[in-house]
Amino acid sequence: MDEKILEIDNLTVSFDGFKALNQLNLSINTGELRVLIGPNGAGKTTLQDVITGKVRPTEGNVYFKGKSLVGYKEHEIARLGIGRKFQTPRIYLNLTVRENLDLACNRNKNLLSTLMGRISSGDKRKVVGLLETIGLTAKADLSANLLSHGEKQRLEIGMLVAQSPELLLVDEPVAGLTDEETENVGSLLLALAESHSILVIEHDMEFVRQIARTVTVLHQGSLLCEGTMEEVQHNPRVIEVYLGETPEIVDS
Ligand code: ADP
Ligand code: MG
Repeated sequence: MDEKILEIDNLTVSFDGFKALNQLNLSINTGELRVLIGPNGAGKTTLQDVITGKVRPTEGNVYFKGKSLVGYKEHEIARLGIGRKFQTPRIYLNLTVRENLDLACNRNKNLLSTLMGRISSGDKRKVVGLLETIGLTAKADLSANLLSHGEKQRLEIGMLVAQSPELLLVDEPVAGLTDEETENVGSLLLALAESHSILVIEHDMEFVRQIARTVTVLHQGSLLCEGTMEEVQHNPRVIEVYLGETPEIVDS
């Protein structure tokens, strides 16, 4: 059995000759929570774009559970079991929290019947469970526009999970959040990591410390180093590329 849920094999992406990703190799084990960091322009978003089928590799390959994703369209890759959370929440602000989750459970079914309340008992149970997981049970019937920024992020993560992905890609989930909200999102990701493989892209080092087991550092489209937070933050090459950008990576 293949232990790797995701394998990036010698991946290069050129934009008019500029290599946003340059012979990148990286793999994530099934069930792993991995954090990807790297200075601006390192290629983090491009990597997610390739995994989700938005951008095609110039060279190399991406394997999901041993199967090459190259050539698949975005919606096909989503259906194979890869869910992507963008940086800005994509939720319906004029619907309640529960309605947002109902819709996410029913994405392939009829939108109108979802809103008319024709939801299967299985989906109802699923939504109750999701509300619990994202910590929004008490706010289930509030309109989503009344949620704080952190609550919106958690709702969107819940909507992603509603579609039962095996691998979750999460781009900067705590940007702009308060410390308390950051911790909530961290706890949520840790809880989800018990039943999903997750790749998180993040800048906030406190947050990375809270959730990270293995950290991968990307620089100029290639792997700079990989290890525990402790190993990574003391790596001289990491310190060098981060100098002037995110000095807080180095413990004072
Ligand atoms: P990160 O997310 O790590 O900040 P990106 O993946 O967004 O980095 O970008 C990596 C590099 O590739 C940057 O130098 C960026 O300007 C360049 N790049 C990204 N997308 C495109 C594109 N569509 N066309 C040209 N250059 C691009
Ligand atoms: Mg980016």
